Amino acid sequence: MSENKDKKVKFLVPTAYDILKNVGISLKNTERSTKMILKYFPGEFTEDLLAENTERYSIEKIFEIVKTCFFEEYGYKTQKFDLNNLYQRSINSYISNDKDEEIRKVVHIDELLESTLFSFFLAMFKWSKDFNNPEMYGDCFIHILYLMNDCCIFGEMQATDANDSLLKILSGDIQILNLAEDCYRTVLVFTIAHEIGHKYLHSISKTAPKDKEQHKVLVDEEYKADEIAYNVVLNMIMKKYSVDADLETYTYLAPMMYMDFFDLFYYTDRVLYKTVLERTDHPIIKKRKGHLFAIADRDKYDFDTEEGNDLYSCFLDVYDEYRTQLLIKNEKGKLDKIKRINKRNIMKGLIK
Ligand SMILES: [Zn+2]
Repeated sequence: MSENKDKKVKFLVPTAYDILKNVGISLKNTERSTKMILKYFPGEFTEDLLAENTERYSIEKIFEIVKTCFFEEYGYKTQKFDLNNLYQRSINSYISNDKDEEIRKVVHIDELLESTLFSFFLAMFKWSKDFNNPEMYGDCFIHILYLMNDCCIFGEMQATDANDSLLKILSGDIQILNLAEDCYRTVLVFTIAHEIGHKYLHSISKTAPKDKEQHKVLVDEEYKADEIAYNVVLNMIMKKYSVDADLETYTYLAPMMYMDFFDLFYYTDRVLYKTVLERTDHPIIKKRKGHLFAIADRDKYDFDTEEGNDLYSCFLDVYDEYRTQLLIKNEKGKLDKIKRINKRNIMKGLIK
């Protein structure tokens, strides 16, 4: 990278609140989504009920609930935290990194992450449920591959026809819609609490890491932020807080699925484009999951885990199936037509 470019990149790394708060665009089209749901789930909803649901389960609402729980759990004040939910072509979430506690903070949860994750749950659960139906099997695999390739790797929002075909796959299966919604909500809580958790950890830590230990400190911090986030999720499930986010008990392993979602994203990138993940400040997913499982096992979290375990085991079956099919189909050259090798190489800076 030339020096000039370097400067530009640094300049683009946003730090100021007003930049972060407003960066991105919104592609949400509530009116269209409402029409689609009414069409594909006939008799299940009315327009009023959908509007009520949208409001009740909106990310803004969840954000406020998590903030309240954070205060009740950790005594941490988050009035100065705002949400940015716009589309920035990023599948990751983050929080602005101002050290000054007086400056307002922005938690970014990309619209792309939200919609991709929700569609991912729909396709995975439907695949698992109708595993023995060959047509459904193929359609679900293709849809998950599409989500991984187009949305996760290339940062593209789901096209209208893709949403259409997913709803066709579901063909009014309300059970799958409910499962996906419930898991998605739990993951939203987890993600938001994870990001706020970072700031909380900064607020209680006295020492700034030295450059040399920076990597280890950042990795440790990820585990701790995960722990905080999972603690909030599990206590929310146990209804420990004054506000009710209405998280279903059986979704208690949804944060694992969230980790697996990223795992499949990186895996797809590796198989299709031979992308090797560079050293990042995030610990590897397997280890993060291991930590989360250890937390869930603690005695203080006492609730019925059977249904949740069953759901996760079904999820893992299709998770394995996706990985196997991706590899086989790729080796046979069956995925060549969906690969965009040139574009991926440009993104990775390998060619101009
Ligand atoms: Zn983090």
